[in-house]
Amino acid sequence: MKQVYLDTFGCQMNVADTDRMELILFHSGYQRTQAKEDADLILVNTCSIREKAEQKTFSLFGGLKPLKMANPDLILGLTGCLGQQDGKKLLQRMPYLDFVIGPDQVEEISQAVDRVQSTNKSFVWTGFDQEKTYSIPELSGKKPRSPGPSAFVNIIKGCDKFCTFCIVPFTRGREKSREPEELFNEVRHLVKQGAKEIILLGQNVNSYGKRGLKNPMAFHELLYGIAEIPGVQRLRFITSHPNDFTRETIRAYRDLDILMNHLHLPVQSGNNQVLKAMRRDHTIEEYMGLLEELKSEVPDIAFSTDVIVGFPGETEEAFEDTLKIMAKVGYSSSYMFAYSPRPGTPANELPDSVPDEIKKCRLQKVIALQHKQSGKLGQSFVEKNVEVLIEGKSSKPDFAFKGRNPQYWNVNLQAGEDIFKVGDTVNVLVENVTGHSLNGKAIL
Ligand code: SF4
Repeated sequence: MKQVYLDTFGCQMNVADTDRMELILFHSGYQRTQAKEDADLILVNTCSIREKAEQKTFSLFGGLKPLKMANPDLILGLTGCLGQQDGKKLLQRMPYLDFVIGPDQVEEISQAVDRVQSTNKSFVWTGFDQEKTYSIPELSGKKPRSPGPSAFVNIIKGCDKFCTFCIVPFTRGREKSREPEELFNEVRHLVKQGAKEIILLGQNVNSYGKRGLKNPMAFHELLYGIAEIPGVQRLRFITSHPNDFTRETIRAYRDLDILMNHLHLPVQSGNNQVLKAMRRDHTIEEYMGLLEELKSEVPDIAFSTDVIVGFPGETEEAFEDTLKIMAKVGYSSSYMFAYSPRPGTPANELPDSVPDEIKKCRLQKVIALQHKQSGKLGQSFVEKNVEVLIEGKSSKPDFAFKGRNPQYWNVNLQAGEDIFKVGDTVNVLVENVTGHSLNGKAIL
């Protein structure tokens, strides 16, 4: 078989797209290699949400160029959001690339490779598919590998929210949901192959069902439907927008034991003026009301979030509001970023008014606060039993396995490898905490 090397930047949607390309290419005679030097085809699935991800992509391609120079038969492709955003500019900047495609061309990856081989000419293939429906067709036959105990399922693509800092609606297009029956079949199939946990994926999963469905279904109905599939032991979803988070979804947390007690709900800022400028279309009071309602139904639920500091117009007081909200909610973890303007977004037109030094300083402050909070929350699990789905071998010496508890904490566990195996759910007595990992012993 020929060898394909795949690299991914960015979100879980990109990880899922890369997995999909791996599967399609496997059916076209390629197997995945971990060594670039052995590859016949190299694909880099890119992200354009932040400047840093772009810089990393360019530096990675700089390192791949000598391989292409030494072996002109090597096919080099750039896929994903940066491809959709910059198309031709990328070929001008990196003329050694064979093709650039966008996120909507993932299903056509084999055709893209064939086109390079038959024409020997580089090309750009981007744009959004015009079909009303969104479908991920099942590929029958052998698979390159089985899913792990925790499997991702794309339920919706694109986003209609147009937050002013975000490039996603421009790189992934408008929202489209997959038909529920197709999703139920995929979940049944994954369970048959050994998956125990299903993580529903989308830029805004709560908006599921609003567009592109023959048989309309709201997000919470989808949750109840998946919960009925025998063998699904755990259910999660990412990412949510506060405005689409319904009371019915809160009830689903209460009603469904398999819906794990964790919610990732981006707050972005704790200040109403900044939220308005970000076009988040809710106030911080509404956001907090949602969390409080959820907490009253599910007291041990854990929250995580996304935070941007240094957005245009963020004053010192506005930044303090973000610190206050973080302290009040007590997030178990956060993705924290200093704002960087993205070409093509509405916020790019605003004066980038917060100096870099201040952005850096604010970022350090939120990181320090989060670190302190995670440490404190982690300590609350010590000497307690937590239920862990074993997802794989631990990379830490002295621990046999790693997994996650319902609140999505990493757990390293000591356990007899002759007694337990990947995919088992076990009780673990937590002994100590390092960073965002709980460490402990499996209990028989
Ligand atoms: S909800 Fe906002 S931040 Fe999230 S993907 Fe959509 S536009 Fe981007």
